[in-house]
Amino acid sequence: MIELTADEVSDLQSWRHDFHRHPETAFEEHRTSARVAELLRGWGLEVHTGIGGTGVVAVLKGKLGDGPAIGLRADMDALHVTEINQVDHASTHEGRMHACGHDGHTTMLLGAARQLGANPDFAGKVVFIFQPAEENEGGARVMIEEGLFERFPVQAVYSMHNWPGLPVGVAAVHDGPVMAAFDIFSLTLTGKGCHAAMPHLGKDALLAACQLVTQLPALISREQEVHKPAVLSVTSFNAGDTFNVMPEVVKLRGTVRCFDMEQRARIEQRFRDAIAATASFHGLQADLDYRASYPATINTAEHAAICADVLSSLLGAENVRRDLTPSMASEDFAFMSQACPGVYIWMGNGEGSASLHNPAYDFNDELLPIGVKYWVNLVKALLKDGRLPA
Ligand SMILES: [Zn+2]
Ligand SMILES: [Zn+2]
Repeated sequence: MIELTADEVSDLQSWRHDFHRHPETAFEEHRTSARVAELLRGWGLEVHTGIGGTGVVAVLKGKLGDGPAIGLRADMDALHVTEINQVDHASTHEGRMHACGHDGHTTMLLGAARQLGANPDFAGKVVFIFQPAEENEGGARVMIEEGLFERFPVQAVYSMHNWPGLPVGVAAVHDGPVMAAFDIFSLTLTGKGCHAAMPHLGKDALLAACQLVTQLPALISREQEVHKPAVLSVTSFNAGDTFNVMPEVVKLRGTVRCFDMEQRARIEQRFRDAIAATASFHGLQADLDYRASYPATINTAEHAAICADVLSSLLGAENVRRDLTPSMASEDFAFMSQACPGVYIWMGNGEGSASLHNPAYDFNDELLPIGVKYWVNLVKALLKDGRLPA
């Protein structure tokens, strides 16, 4: 079991606070990525930049000889949120904020790289993956498309996310689904605008859109098996701007989430059917842009069991939750865990923590050394104690 010195813990905090003060959003993580690469080079790791734009990959070979390679992944991007925290390390970038704790994720993986770089007491290779644009833009997918796993083949890949509501020192490991798949839709309904006093002269796109808002959720509640979780939310409705005109165009947007890929395809087909039928009934033109965004994040059970063992030795078995329901939020780590076996765990950010993406959120510094120890102990379990499944 590794221990960190007080100086090492204070370094973690100062790196994290520096990232927090300078949040950068999707594919613009230039300062962050330069700092990550600089630190990694300073510890003697082999560093590759420019993969997926601002992505950074560092490779560390173990001193115990050849062996398998594993990937450890952190995300670096911030969000378009205006921070309301009055702390020394508050964001100095107007309208941007590390409201999802990726500053902490990056820091914990850096801490692990430093510890392992100083004593690469394992056989094989660790590939440290610092990815851009986890929020909305799928930076993981872009890194993969740019050859991440061809250039740096790994047998398995691991990641973690801080989790508000769970106490610090408590972790959660799921055996299968952990984060939902995420689709988005934009619909433009075009009818025929007219005088509001003479609706028979027009085609009412607004009435049709209202029907869709109330009826589309029935594609989930009336058509999906109740024990296969799915959700459909219309999140944006734009139409009209005065009292006496029936608008010609109405725009709707929203999202669909579920875990099962066949179910996902069925919902999309039924969604398209429902739009076409409603448009036909009202005599409207419907332009639908329905996009698969992130797949579901599914942990490989055999690997999850090892992660849970490592966490049990670190935190005590009573602090490793194996019973939490998966989240309907999504994660682009799914692209990595589709490419090879993977495990994505949650680590408590504190019961009092503001929720993810909230303007009062802050990553909990107490989690930093815990995350570093998890990474280091996981590498030892997999590449020194030979627990990586064949
Ligand atoms: Zn987020
Ligand atoms: Zn996040």
